[in-house]
Amino acid sequence: MTPMQKHFDVIVIGAGPSGMMASLAASGQGASVLLLEKKERPGKKLLLTGHGRCNITNIRIPDNFRETYHENGRFLTSSLHAFSPEDVREYFLSLGIPTHEEDDGRIFPDTQKASSVCEALEKALSGNGVVLLTDSPVRSVKKSDGIWTVTTEKDSFSSKAVILSTGGKSFPHTGSEGDGYALAKVNGHEVTELAPALAPIFFSAFSDASCASRGEDCGAEFTLAGITLPDVGSSLWVGGKKVKSARGDLLFTHQGVSGPASMPLSRELPSSKGKYPEGYVRFQIDMLPDIREEEVGKMLLQAMTENPNRYMKRLLCETFHLQEKAAVLVLDGKAMDICAHEVTKEMRKAIVRKLKASAFDVEKCTPMDIAYVTRGGVSVKQIDPKTMGSKVQEGLFFSGEVMDIDGISGGYNLQFAWESGRAAGIAAAEYSQA
Ligand SMILES: Cc1cc2nc3c(=O)[nH]c(=O)nc-3n(C[C@H](O)[C@H](O)[C@H](O)COP(=O)(O)OP(=O)(O)OC[C@H]3O[C@@H](n4cnc5c(N)ncnc54)[C@H](O)[C@@H]3O)c2cc1C
Repeated sequence: MTPMQKHFDVIVIGAGPSGMMASLAASGQGASVLLLEKKERPGKKLLLTGHGRCNITNIRIPDNFRETYHENGRFLTSSLHAFSPEDVREYFLSLGIPTHEEDDGRIFPDTQKASSVCEALEKALSGNGVVLLTDSPVRSVKKSDGIWTVTTEKDSFSSKAVILSTGGKSFPHTGSEGDGYALAKVNGHEVTELAPALAPIFFSAFSDASCASRGEDCGAEFTLAGITLPDVGSSLWVGGKKVKSARGDLLFTHQGVSGPASMPLSRELPSSKGKYPEGYVRFQIDMLPDIREEEVGKMLLQAMTENPNRYMKRLLCETFHLQEKAAVLVLDGKAMDICAHEVTKEMRKAIVRKLKASAFDVEKCTPMDIAYVTRGGVSVKQIDPKTMGSKVQEGLFFSGEVMDIDGISGGYNLQFAWESGRAAGIAAAEYSQA
């Protein structure tokens, strides 16, 4: 950049995946582009994705986008068709990043490194002549006489078009602190309620501090920390009503649960500042989702009848292929040292119930900081789905997580970042050059 250059066709705010893609798309149309990033380097969240491996997209997008992108899924119809997961793969191949498919359609770079994806984008930005300024947090975005003025802590720039790509509000150390919501609001945009999505869930029974303060033993559940129950069914209950269910591996942590069987349910947790009332929010696990409760009862009775002197813990592990700690949970930590012939009918029924519906009180809404994705954001009602352009302010565009869209895990959130970034970049360049 010449030190004097202060006016650009397009200014992009936020150098996450969507902002970098928007900058590349706009510069690809011949627009002069300034990309302003708050942190000392671009793509800090991108570097964390897929446990550092970057689950770049997913080639399995069902026709019904609600399954992957919830309430606002339909908003993505045109951007997804314009820049499909296959297009994303081809695009990264053109940047020197070949990709491969893993389970459930998830696509990863062959390098297995998110850093290589970020480096390829940075190289392309510089190749396209995009001016990237890091350590430049944007404080205000204002329009006057058809020209936007974007002010950072140190400087001020102008442009015909602005793309807001500031991300959500989780993992704030990566720079995504929710700044974009205020910038959108002052420009007349509605921001829907923000909540954590794709986050761990905390159980009251696992609350170390609360047990200790009551002078109690935290019980059998506490010993589960660190184990993974493979392919279980899970469901979230609020005020006695089932609000959502999921299936997959469930990882027990010291505070509750994480993993594919719990993360999708976290976005349905009711917002609350403090702890939930006892019994109000419950997380239920079905350890044998492919076997009906009646059948489980028959299988257990038969195993007990055939092995009257076997310890129940061992019998459960053998009959239902459970891990030992899962059997401890089912037996409530009490009936472990008894043999099958000592188990009463009531105890047997309770065991079956636990196998099919072990329930835990959820302690509180997960803090936003540790959610992988933010639910809510700039309302898509005021955004054109083809161009990502504001319906309120001409020349203002949006890309990525700052909008009220969140996807399930599996590469869908990055797919949304790429496709919305591309749509916004092309449209902003066209607008600025018209
Ligand atoms: C641990 C973790 C793992 C994940 N793994 C995956 C995965 O494997 N696959 C997947 O699809 N999704 C994954 N996600 C989600 C995915 O990372 C996000 O959806 C995606 O990064 C959103 O991209 P974005 O460009 O919209 O926003 P962000 O990546 O949040 O980028 C926003 C950028 O804007 C900058 N910014 C903010 N405010 C300002 C300001 N005022 N001025 C200037 N710059 C500003 C920020 O510093 C940041 O660089 C993961 C998320 C996390 C936290």
